[in-house]
Amino acid sequence: MRFALFGDIHANLEALEAVLADAAGQGVTHHVCLGDIVGYNADPVACLEKVRAMGCPVVKGNHDDDASNNRSLETLSPVAAAAMEWTRQQLDDEQKQWLRKLRMVRQIEDFTVVHSTLDQPANWGYVFNTYDAMANFPFQYTQVCFHGHTHKPKVFVKSAQIATVPADTVTIEPGMKYFINAGSVGQPRDGDWRACYAIYDPALRLVVFRRVEYDIAKAQEKILAAGLPERLAERLAEGA
Ligand code: ZN
Repeated sequence: MRFALFGDIHANLEALEAVLADAAGQGVTHHVCLGDIVGYNADPVACLEKVRAMGCPVVKGNHDDDASNNRSLETLSPVAAAAMEWTRQQLDDEQKQWLRKLRMVRQIEDFTVVHSTLDQPANWGYVFNTYDAMANFPFQYTQVCFHGHTHKPKVFVKSAQIATVPADTVTIEPGMKYFINAGSVGQPRDGDWRACYAIYDPALRLVVFRRVEYDIAKAQEKILAAGLPERLAERLAEGA
């Protein structure tokens, strides 16, 4: 088995298709979606239907949650709120219900997945550093857990203390726990515009991060054509 862990797609169909093609080329046999299929970019319906048709495990992201109910958007930034307003108009009731029913945490084989963090996953806490990661580990019962939410690929490793190791190729060592952010497919924020996801091979005890180029101009054109905030098109190119 070879798992592709991918999330924070954020309605970027060009990035999603590029990632799935890359995963196929890497011999991936199973897919797991880390949430935030929709929000920000211009293809919420196509991305939702594509992930749904794959029939793979999916956990709920905060944007999936926002898109599937009518809660007030006043806590969001103006740009995010405008995009969410638009996203809600694109999705039909049945698609919203599918998002609403997504689970917060799932265990697959020997690993766990969650969108944000295992302590109070519905509070959508951000894990940026080792201090933030401390709260997660007492709730992590598997050696490896994948997450997303910050849009920054990152590997937190816990032995006696919590440290980070570079997010490129990571060997899962005995006696350690790993809380791994697989990065963002559709809106990376680590300064690299390319779509990001991770591949996990349990037999080889190996996690490999992948960066994939995609047709960013097309994704940007669609954002502008939909009347979404221009900033959403700009930030894709900045990886911010
Ligand atoms: Zn996100």
